[in-house]
Amino acid sequence: MKRALVTGITGQDGLYLSELLLSKGYEVYGLIRGQNNPKADLVRSVVPDVRLLNGDITDLSSLIRALSTSQPDEVYNLGAVSFVAYSWENARLTSDVTGLGVLNVLEATRLHAGPDLSKIRFYQASSSEMFGKVQDVPQRESTLLWPRSPYGVAKVYGHYMTINYRESYGMHASSGILFNHESPRRGPEFVTRKITQAVARISLGLQESISLGNLDAKRDWGFAGDYVEAMWLMLQQEQADDYVVATGETHSIREFLEIAFAHVGIDDWQRLVTQDPRFLRPAEVDLLIGDPTKAREQLGWQPKVGFEDLVRMMVDSDLAEQRKTSAR
Ligand code: NDP
Repeated sequence: MKRALVTGITGQDGLYLSELLLSKGYEVYGLIRGQNNPKADLVRSVVPDVRLLNGDITDLSSLIRALSTSQPDEVYNLGAVSFVAYSWENARLTSDVTGLGVLNVLEATRLHAGPDLSKIRFYQASSSEMFGKVQDVPQRESTLLWPRSPYGVAKVYGHYMTINYRESYGMHASSGILFNHESPRRGPEFVTRKITQAVARISLGLQESISLGNLDAKRDWGFAGDYVEAMWLMLQQEQADDYVVATGETHSIREFLEIAFAHVGIDDWQRLVTQDPRFLRPAEVDLLIGDPTKAREQLGWQPKVGFEDLVRMMVDSDLAEQRKTSAR
């Protein structure tokens, strides 16, 4: 039986990845931080077979302890301060967790493995936010990185450190440059989930309007359940490498709103949406659209859920959740 250690277990991707690994017969260990993390119950209810270990990616000794207990064949580093807007207000924290945290997980893995480093495979959750001020359309593995937020800068550090451990120590360390991926488990601070929650509440008469930033921002959005499969596939390859994971399509926030509101039967949605400059980014990333050719050709990966189905899936889930909450 293979064993995996996953950081960021309480997050969107941590839950989907755990489900995938458990379905493949893995023993899954999840790193959970804080003495009383409120999301521990969520993990226990969604993936009860995951074994939770206390630790924090800013604390090297806790990582070495987690590795020693779990004895993993595969380490997935998903832990991060992951909300771009928050990263401007907490740039130092973001650098410590999202940047230096990667070095800690790599170094703990190297120290734990000792001379037999090839026995452990490592995955780093890199991000399309590293492209920022885009130099190529679509963006691919060789596109110049030009991050436009403290989050993007920290991810670039983690990305190059992963490559550095591969080149310096021969570690099987791969980096997935994942474009935006969403799901009903997306945190409510992210714009897609903020929209689908609001659309559900507006359609049920629980909320009047929604306030957003730049409606013309464009992203390449996929389904998180599809993207965790690409993470796993990367670690099954003989050689470690870096891969762009994306749909190859781009859509605006406006299109997202259009589909979400249409799904609950509201066509004149413009009157329900206000624009608030507080939600604009100090520096916006340009057009994000990924070229997943390498992932398709070398990993045999492709997304299954399309953009419209993704939006509808999220609205349906929020409708069910809001109905349940308001019936209590
Ligand atoms: P989430 O924000 O849902 O989850 C982030 C996770 O990181 C949470 O489990 C959080 O735990 C954990 N975490 C935060 N700080 C620490 C810390 N100091 N030590 C250990 N764990 C910590 O993110 P996603 O699941 O969406 O994303 C997973 C990874 O993929 C992240 O690294 C993200 O930056 C990256 N990524 C995501 C994309 C997306 O579109 N979703 C796109 C590209 C990359 P806690 O509950 O304790 O806060």
